[in-house]
Amino acid sequence: MIGRARRRLVAGNWKMHTTYAEALELAEQIRRTCSEVTEVEVALLPPFPWIVPLAERLQGSAIILGAQNCSAYEQGAYTGEVSACMIAPFCRYVIVGHSERRRLFGETDDVVAAKVSVALRHGLRPILCVGELLEEREAGATLDVIERQLRMACAPLSADTCRELVIAYEPVWAIGTGRAALPLDAQLVSAWIRRWLVERFGAVATDIRILYGGSVTAQNAPAFFAEPAIDGALVGGASLNAEQFCAIVRAASRVETGSLQ
Ligand code: PEP
Repeated sequence: MIGRARRRLVAGNWKMHTTYAEALELAEQIRRTCSEVTEVEVALLPPFPWIVPLAERLQGSAIILGAQNCSAYEQGAYTGEVSACMIAPFCRYVIVGHSERRRLFGETDDVVAAKVSVALRHGLRPILCVGELLEEREAGATLDVIERQLRMACAPLSADTCRELVIAYEPVWAIGTGRAALPLDAQLVSAWIRRWLVERFGAVATDIRILYGGSVTAQNAPAFFAEPAIDGALVGGASLNAEQFCAIVRAASRVETGSLQ
């Protein structure tokens, strides 16, 4: 087997779920259950208030933390916002451009680009979500949509900083619906994203990880990880169950594709 140059990443997006007690319990179960898997990077993305207590409890474990969002602003009179600077001491990653933020909270491509910028300024690695709506897919516009999202969000990046980026290809119609994309379709889009990144940033962009997200489960995860252009998963619903989530992590650790695309 040939080792992968890109370490797989499995990130659990808890969204606005869990009480404080549930969050502590879930993190502890995941820490215990995933402890034997070292080849895969495991990240938990809990709600904001749980980040600091989880950072304390997960100290010394390989599990790292990320945030689900950050403000596009540095600091100031922005009631209710949480800045990249505030989460940076506790988190390695921050999701930007999740379709729920784009759709429900009106985040434009410009706002997403500003978040990429501010995240990088504070040493956070953005997990940039891109993906098409069902009607865009049916109209044959998938790659046009993704090209626009990538072009806008990557505007603040240079060849030096692009390595910090993680892309999550998340077809919007697959998120939370139980209807995952076909692994081959996700592979084709991810390989297209890779070509776009390499054209934009040069060979250094081969280091950028591309995840698939959208109704990933313990059952379907191995088929996604068997695709060479897919470097991991952004997991929503299944990340709220330690057994399911760790089964996905184990699936990511088992598959070796050899050739990277
Ligand atoms: C997500 O929220 O990014 C996601 C992929 O959710 P789910 O796994 O529940 O579809």
